[in-house]
Amino acid sequence: LFPDPGPWKVPPARKVTLNQPLGIEALPTQRFVKSKRTPYVLNVMVVGETGLGKTTFMNTLFNTDLVESIIPETPQSTKTVVISPKTYELVEDGVSLNLCVIDTPGFGDRLNRSTDLEPIIEYIDEQFQAYYDAERSAEFRRAIPDTRVHALLYFIPPTGHTLKELDILALQTLSAKVNVIPVIAKADTLTPEEKVSFKRSILGGLDAHNIKIYPSAYPDDREMIVELEKHIPFTVIGSDNFVNAAGKKVRGRSYRWGVVEVENVKHCDFIYLRELIMTSCLHELIDITHSHHYHNYRAGLLRRGGRPESILACDEQYEVRIENTKATLSEEMLRKEEEMRQTFVQKVREKEQSLRQREEQLNQRRQQLMAELEEQRRLIEAEEREMNDMLNANRSTRRK
Ligand code: GDP
Repeated sequence: LFPDPGPWKVPPARKVTLNQPLGIEALPTQRFVKSKRTPYVLNVMVVGETGLGKTTFMNTLFNTDLVESIIPETPQSTKTVVISPKTYELVEDGVSLNLCVIDTPGFGDRLNRSTDLEPIIEYIDEQFQAYYDAERSAEFRRAIPDTRVHALLYFIPPTGHTLKELDILALQTLSAKVNVIPVIAKADTLTPEEKVSFKRSILGGLDAHNIKIYPSAYPDDREMIVELEKHIPFTVIGSDNFVNAAGKKVRGRSYRWGVVEVENVKHCDFIYLRELIMTSCLHELIDITHSHHYHNYRAGLLRRGGRPESILACDEQYEVRIENTKATLSEEMLRKEEEMRQTFVQKVREKEQSLRQREEQLNQRRQQLMAELEEQRRLIEAEEREMNDMLNANRSTRRK
């Protein structure tokens, strides 16, 4: 993603035998201790129509009463999507995770979903911009607070048909900016056969519209996700309650006909999704956000000419080269313009001269013809006079 810095010249290392231990073996422990002390940051955004079970699902995923439901009093009561980020500190075995859940209540409650997308995109871009500004400020040279969205869970209603146009538009827009993980909400409302065909039709829709979803679109570590990937788009069930299953209390939903268990792979893909986010790919989600999505945002800013005052020598050289190129181009254009002007004037002059010569030739010819005509007229008059004289002479001879 970044330009190749060129071949590094690293001298080959000679292997040395240590006479006594130096403590090198403790280096991974140093890193472990250090990273244990620094809290991890994970920012997850949840997007989907009201009532699809987003709040319940987040509570289920983190196994606590994390998020309170924000259901508007009436569907029309919110004119726009309200972005509500909430941060929680989760601690497990001395490791803390600062989890920020960004809910988007109001999304999909109106017909025009593109207006619903605007505040979401605005929020995502604002976080990129804040990171970009911090990168450039001396104050944050060390650790920049990361509020960028690392993962976006997009809740698809369990219709069992195909993706709606509105969902396609939203997925297209969002997947260009963040790691989008599509999930099928309320999977307990679909039969196993319906789940299979719905997944197939969703994947077909994503493929047809070239929508890049996480993790399939970012094949950094295929091996790790090859098993998890088979379950995309993940079917999920959320529940705030515990049910009795085979004598054990588990998270699930209880119905007259039986119970559905959240963590049962026969009922939904919850545990695969949790493994993807929490165990296998948390680091990767953060890395891809930085190296791919943030990089794209930054590149977009630079392309639009929003270059900040340069702090890097290569940036300055770039500026100078751009200025020089601009100056050379404008000089070249001026020279070309002058050349064209000269050629045009020369051509007009040549044409004028040839026209003048032609006019002169025509004048001469005219004068020549006039002179010839005058001569002929003179000759005819002389002949006429001669004839008249002869006639007069004849007449006087006859009279005599
Ligand atoms: P949100 O508006 O998307 O945050 O939805 P909520 O989490 O507030 O859930 C709305 C309703 O759906 C609640 O009554 C939940 O109990 C119910 N619900 C949540 N998850 C599921 C699920 O997986 N299956 C079913 N059948 N209902 C669910």
